[in-house]
Amino acid sequence: MKEKINTINNFLKEKFGEKIYKVSLDGGFTCPNRDGTAAYGGCIFCSESGSGEFTGTRTKSITEQINEQIQFLDKKFIGEKYIAYFQNFTNTYAPVKYLRKIYEEALSHPNIIGIAIATRPDCLPDEVLTLLEELNRKTFLWIELGLQTLNDEVAQTFNRAYKTSIYKEAAIKLNQRKIKFVTHIILGLPYENENDYLETAIFAEKCGTWGLKLHLMYVVEKTPLEILYKSGKLKVYEKNDYVKKIVNILENVSYNIVIHRMTGDGDKKTLIAPLWSLNKKDVLNSIQKELKIRNSFQGKIKEDNLS
Ligand code: SF4
Repeated sequence: MKEKINTINNFLKEKFGEKIYKVSLDGGFTCPNRDGTAAYGGCIFCSESGSGEFTGTRTKSITEQINEQIQFLDKKFIGEKYIAYFQNFTNTYAPVKYLRKIYEEALSHPNIIGIAIATRPDCLPDEVLTLLEELNRKTFLWIELGLQTLNDEVAQTFNRAYKTSIYKEAAIKLNQRKIKFVTHIILGLPYENENDYLETAIFAEKCGTWGLKLHLMYVVEKTPLEILYKSGKLKVYEKNDYVKKIVNILENVSYNIVIHRMTGDGDKKTLIAPLWSLNKKDVLNSIQKELKIRNSFQGKIKEDNLS
């Protein structure tokens, strides 16, 4: 029977015939949004580690990080195959020679069967795209783009430092080269309009996104967002409201969009709000419950509109 949501776990299990895990790696990058190339200070919600709380240690080689993470994961699961996930900061923001070195080091590890690379759409020059296209022919690869919202005014308030048109252009180039990409969307951004989150998801699908990562806006220590939250200028979602909005997205995008994430993943040591997000299992169960209440599934509204 078809699952209600086309999750990445199910997708990978079907593709590789077993459960696939991700190892989160730190490639030693920074971000043009922090070093002054695009802006200073970064996105206001970005943590000290560049929104990669659970990655390996950057002083270690990629191979060492993979081995360490596999060892750690093996205590909880039994897995043989992993995806190397370059997660924190901007993982295409370096000379191509360096990118090739670290990506190929990851792919040469016997347990690695694919690669995921998180980046910004303004960090995909032609020479990087050519490298990604080459790797994409040899392995299972996807790129992740931090769009967060299609609303340029909102994006300005959190200091994204690129226009939505740049995302659209990057999407066209990735599609032309048949490189899969996942779009990150944040629900609950400061000053967002009521329907921005839904319009952003629909827009990402129109731009040809292969997957969606849906994040809850959460506040962590030592970020500019913490100041905004503590001054009372930012409201965080109540769980029920968030769950309903996630289900709205699921119903309005096609079933073939792969859902990589449906909630936030703050580190409990630094998370300030909302604290309910720490119980990830409960949030995911609540999403399933809401689908059941609505007698619905991913793509339902799209399907209804077509029939
Ligand atoms: S683009 Fe990513 S790494 Fe750079 S500041 Fe924003 S969230 Fe952090």
